[in-house]
Amino acid sequence: MVKRENIASVRIFENSMAKPIYSITPFTLLDYPDYPACILWFAGCNMRCLYCYNPEIVLGKGKISIKETEHFLQSRKSLLQGVVFSGGECTLHPNLIQLARMAKEMRYNIKVDTNGTRPDVLRQMREEHLLDYVALDFKGMRNKHRHITVSDTFSTFEKSLNLLQKMAVPFEIRTTWHPDLLSIEDITTMVNFLAQRGYQGKYFIQYFMNGVKTLSPLSDRHCYIDPKPLSTANIQVEIRST
Ligand code: SF4
Repeated sequence: MVKRENIASVRIFENSMAKPIYSITPFTLLDYPDYPACILWFAGCNMRCLYCYNPEIVLGKGKISIKETEHFLQSRKSLLQGVVFSGGECTLHPNLIQLARMAKEMRYNIKVDTNGTRPDVLRQMREEHLLDYVALDFKGMRNKHRHITVSDTFSTFEKSLNLLQKMAVPFEIRTTWHPDLLSIEDITTMVNFLAQRGYQGKYFIQYFMNGVKTLSPLSDRHCYIDPKPLSTANIQVEIRST
């Protein structure tokens, strides 16, 4: 028997399927390495990260249809080289594959921003050559992950990480840092975890955003991490401003 709250979430998802996109950022030079791109913000998410500064996207409904998105991409294909599928969590939407095929036919490069809960979708996109770059969120080690995301999804993050390690798709790992949620020791443990998994490359730390509405009220803090002592021979920790 389906619980009452599950019925409500299914209804929201059905609406999102009809109009999966909450909004579109028509131009960015910051969100896709090396390419001028647009961002498709998919409505809905299966996490509730305490520091999330997109509550309207996570909790809201999509407003833009597949057809409208297609028109937008057509109109921009001579100006842009990349499309960022973001959200919310874009991999939850069945329309993602359809939109990615559309974007590929228009010769866009495709980047997916993901919380790592749908490794099966990443695999399918890779198998169809629909994936050019991935940004994978690393929320924290298992207990912190559960607390920060209000979800029990660390295992799927691990699966996505393992999959990306095996697939020949460039990817980056990133963590949003709020000192009330993750200590410097936590970050060190996370770097060690990545090192044990054989990860090599950049690991981005993003500061949480002060002074904006978040899913859960958090203190405004001005704290800074020195990334140098956190880096290892194979993992370069870098600070990225949001
Ligand atoms: S920060 Fe968390 S809740 Fe917000 S969109 Fe990303 S995964 Fe979802």
